[in-house]
Amino acid sequence: MGSRDVSPRTSGEGLHLSRAVAYTANRDSGSERSGVTSRFQLRLAALGLKSLIMSNTLRPNSLDAFWMPFTPNRTFKADPRMLTRAEGMYYYTPEGRPILDGTAGLWCVAAGHAQPKIVEAIQRAAAELDYAPAFNMGHPAVFEFANQLGGLLPDKIDRIAFTNSGSESADTALKIALAYQRARGKPNKYRLIGRERAYHGVNFGGMTVGGITKNRVNFGPMVGGVDHLPHTHDLRNAFSRGQPKHGAEYADALERLVALHDPSTIAAVIVEPVAGSTGVLVPPQGYLQRLRELCTRHDILLIFDEVITGFGRLGAPFASQFFDVRPDIITMAKAINNATVPMGAVAVTREIHDTIVNNSETPIELFHGYTMTGHPLACAAGLATLEVYRDQSLFERAAELAPYWEDALHSLKSAKHVIDIRNLGLIGGIELEPRHGKPTQRAMEAFRACFEKGALIRTTGDIIALSPPLIIEKPQIDQIVETIRDVLQKLD
Ligand code: PLP
Repeated sequence: MGSRDVSPRTSGEGLHLSRAVAYTANRDSGSERSGVTSRFQLRLAALGLKSLIMSNTLRPNSLDAFWMPFTPNRTFKADPRMLTRAEGMYYYTPEGRPILDGTAGLWCVAAGHAQPKIVEAIQRAAAELDYAPAFNMGHPAVFEFANQLGGLLPDKIDRIAFTNSGSESADTALKIALAYQRARGKPNKYRLIGRERAYHGVNFGGMTVGGITKNRVNFGPMVGGVDHLPHTHDLRNAFSRGQPKHGAEYADALERLVALHDPSTIAAVIVEPVAGSTGVLVPPQGYLQRLRELCTRHDILLIFDEVITGFGRLGAPFASQFFDVRPDIITMAKAINNATVPMGAVAVTREIHDTIVNNSETPIELFHGYTMTGHPLACAAGLATLEVYRDQSLFERAAELAPYWEDALHSLKSAKHVIDIRNLGLIGGIELEPRHGKPTQRAMEAFRACFEKGALIRTTGDIIALSPPLIIEKPQIDQIVETIRDVLQKLD
């Protein structure tokens, strides 16, 4: 790994607009709005960015139309944070202020931002084959990418269906599990088992097997035939380094569900090997192994949702290799192509694939897929991304950095408000004591203050979740940790 320039470059080309002028939510009259717009357009023209000036359609001062996901829209639009450029370990604000990325975007930009090989591959693909239907047609890159992914995955889990996101991967995996049980003559095995505090995206299947109350409560009865294991969060394990000691027995709850429903009705169990979105829940020692044993004993498929753990986050290509536990199906997305073009995938065993394909009574074996399945740009980006991971030994790098990362994070044990710290690979979770009667508020304030101090962290509930690009350097780890320490010290 060659040496890297760890100092941010302040952009001379950024749009040097006052954030307040350019981006404050404008609910006022059209004439005021167009006044701000024209100032913005003059500014763009001065910068020679004429192509961005699109008659009356560009209204960058108005934040009204975009309904932002998982965001308090009203709060954000009153005080927005904008990013206009990214490179390496840094995002840049419109004023050119560097923000050190402690979260790889959303766990996804593993190789760092604007990676030149990946950028170039996408540009070339766009000019060569902009789109190709995946139904009854193919293009070389999608087959090649599937082959290469198969080479990274555990042995014989190498039949790949492509999707466009982690949510679609979760739902695709659940559908394949059901189709498999049916294809092998067990259509009554239809139940799906998820886990409390799990996140498998926002589509109906993933939401139902997921275990986040707020994500489920507004959306009706959801998919039928779903039950949940207990989560593994346990404050007996507070401040554990790596995998915690207590809690393998949480897997035994599967025995109770099996006793309740009968194994002849259960198709699959889906878990995240490390749960990220609900605040970095590292599996207790022996937990995943026990889950595997129970699934095998009761003829139940085990699905690992590796949307965040895939592609080196733990120092191995996938968590299944890291934990040495072999699931039947693996979902992935996020870092699959460094998050440059939306894409996800589901890898299944040859047994699952062949059972469905060879037993099909219809020419089409699986009635499932997307218009954008295996998009040429996503595949080109994916192939280039795998090359970068290999050339720069980024998975090995994550493994090498993990002990430093662990020490740095746990140095926050004495920091104000911290009640637990969890880590594995290049993942970190810092749990804060919630403010009395105001859950999430303290963490949200920490997030905003860190951003102002030039570090991007992520918070979920009252937990700070960290997952930097795998190219991070040690001084940058220190910077993230010290920024958090300073910020927490100043918060009530
Ligand atoms: N599964 C897991 C484990 C995730 O962490 C996420 C997103 O964070 C998803 C699924 C959903 O992925 P997406 O947001 O790409 O739909």
